Amino acid sequence: MSDIQDENTYIPLNDVRQAMDKAAKLAGRESGDITLIAISKTRAADEIRPLIEAGHRVFGENRVQEAAEKWPQLRAQYAGLELHMVGQLQSNKADDAVALFDAIHSLDRPSLVKALGKAMRKAERTIPCFIQVNIGEEEQKGGCAIADVPDLLALAEEQGIPVTGLMCVPPLGLEPSPYFALLAKKADELGLKALSMGMSGDYEAAIKIGATHIRVGSALFGIRD
Ligand SMILES: *Cc1c(COP(=O)(O)O)cnc(C)c1O
Repeated sequence: MSDIQDENTYIPLNDVRQAMDKAAKLAGRESGDITLIAISKTRAADEIRPLIEAGHRVFGENRVQEAAEKWPQLRAQYAGLELHMVGQLQSNKADDAVALFDAIHSLDRPSLVKALGKAMRKAERTIPCFIQVNIGEEEQKGGCAIADVPDLLALAEEQGIPVTGLMCVPPLGLEPSPYFALLAKKADELGLKALSMGMSGDYEAAIKIGATHIRVGSALFGIRD
């Protein structure tokens, strides 16, 4: 773990960037229209810094507490950082989330939408959000049911929350492309532009199907423990 601090440590940022370019080109898209979110969950600040020093600015975390422990200090040290919340969010952490993050990818239920609306009004800070969709209709998985997306979107609008798009994590071990395509279709039907989909194993496929935000952890930082 600690040897990543070694200044000779190779950071695969350029490899990921090149793969993004290639996938975008094949799809007739501009890779500049795709945001690479480096998912830094479980990584210490010292493991994150080399990526920031290499010029990367957009990161994602999946826990409020962990983000609060790492990012205020990093923000004090580096300008222009953008932090995305990609994990399940408890309503009682809405105030903290609005203070810490610049975007939230996990709107998935009415109680959370109301809590975030209230938190944003209180903080006088409005941050863009994605509705997380349980695209494989999996029992245990986070995200709102596909059929419930329109109502949740309407509630978010009522709460003054800018919903920019949809987010999904397809079922593990299955070919992800049909799920990405379904998410893209839903977003299109609802007039939503952004698509947060694609992780280390499948971001190239996601880009070909229209991902605007890819969430890449282990391909940048190595396999998590
Ligand atoms: C951890 C995580 C990722 C990144 O996963 P990798 O396979 O390490 O790229 C992306 N999205 C979410 C929601 C995650 O929790």
